[in-house]
Amino acid sequence: MKFPLFIPIIFLLLFSIYPTSAHFFPNITSIPRSLIPNTTVWEAFNQLLGCHNGQKVDGLTKLKKYLQYFGYLNFSYSNFSDDFDDYLESAIKTYQLNFNLNATGELDEQTLKHIVQPRCGNADIVNGTSTMNSGKQPRTHSSNSTIHTVAHYEFFPGKPRWPESKTELTYAFLPENQLSENVKSLFGRAFERWSEVTPLTFTETTSYSRADLKIGFFSGDHGDGEPFDGVLGTLAHAFSPPAGRFHLDGDENWVTDGNFLNGSPVSAVDLESVAVHEIGHLLGLGHSSVEDAIMYPSISSGTRKVELARDDVMGIQELYGSNPNYNGSEPSLIPRQERDSSGTYYLHYSLWEFVMPLVIGTFLLFTL
Ligand SMILES: [Zn+2]
Ligand SMILES: [Zn+2]
Repeated sequence: MKFPLFIPIIFLLLFSIYPTSAHFFPNITSIPRSLIPNTTVWEAFNQLLGCHNGQKVDGLTKLKKYLQYFGYLNFSYSNFSDDFDDYLESAIKTYQLNFNLNATGELDEQTLKHIVQPRCGNADIVNGTSTMNSGKQPRTHSSNSTIHTVAHYEFFPGKPRWPESKTELTYAFLPENQLSENVKSLFGRAFERWSEVTPLTFTETTSYSRADLKIGFFSGDHGDGEPFDGVLGTLAHAFSPPAGRFHLDGDENWVTDGNFLNGSPVSAVDLESVAVHEIGHLLGLGHSSVEDAIMYPSISSGTRKVELARDDVMGIQELYGSNPNYNGSEPSLIPRQERDSSGTYYLHYSLWEFVMPLVIGTFLLFTL
């Protein structure tokens, strides 16, 4: 038997798909200094200040990969050199439009400030269609002759949603993460934000494999082609209905009490803020260009944002209608839409993730 090569490969595979535990801290001061890095994954982009079309600058290759990851460069784009070409200029202009910046096509200070911010791992442009400002003129809704609302919320391509017959959704936590009741209750509060304004209800269940919504913390590559990147950078991602998968980066310093100063420079992220955002994706919302909206793609380290904005409420109510008991200040402006459960963008792979360790384990048993 050829022993030396395949054993390490199998162990690598095993560890690469095995879930991690995560760091939770009640507040910023309880984070050990050893867990606060001097620099984070995207901060090197600040060295690109002032770059524009026609230049060749170290670091542009990485920026191109960043922009491709979030949908700004087409997946067929392959010129990963440090050359600032027309495609990169166009991608930066689109990014600037999405984030309400001057569309200069240059890496100015404001643009880089947004690029280096920690953010959701879901793309802003899916299959070439922008789900934010750059894709279209904002829609205007009017509920009567005096109220006009500009809406920026968007959906996944094909507008997938949970079926009309399924308003009672269940959620479960990856058992291996062994989350405390305190952390679990924080997710419960995040779900409540969305059930307050829709007919949907969310109930925790102990059966992870059977739950509609599956929540797990993972580190690095975790088997879905969208690896996490350590402290800050991408924080979490979630899949469109009816996939129900919600992944968080286990390497973040997650703060659970939300009681810290806004804009703190410490590398810490408010868990409840990220949970409210990702649940929006689980229900079918894409990213919004409204900075106050929960569905805006980025969040500053040390910031707490858990209240649904008018834009979020309008978006989710276009998909599911309003909660008949909703007493919020925003009236329901959107009529209930026809069910559209087509066009699910992401693939299911939950079964694969569970079966893979079994297959590898059995293989090891019979070969060693
Ligand atoms: Zn997102
Ligand atoms: Zn994932």
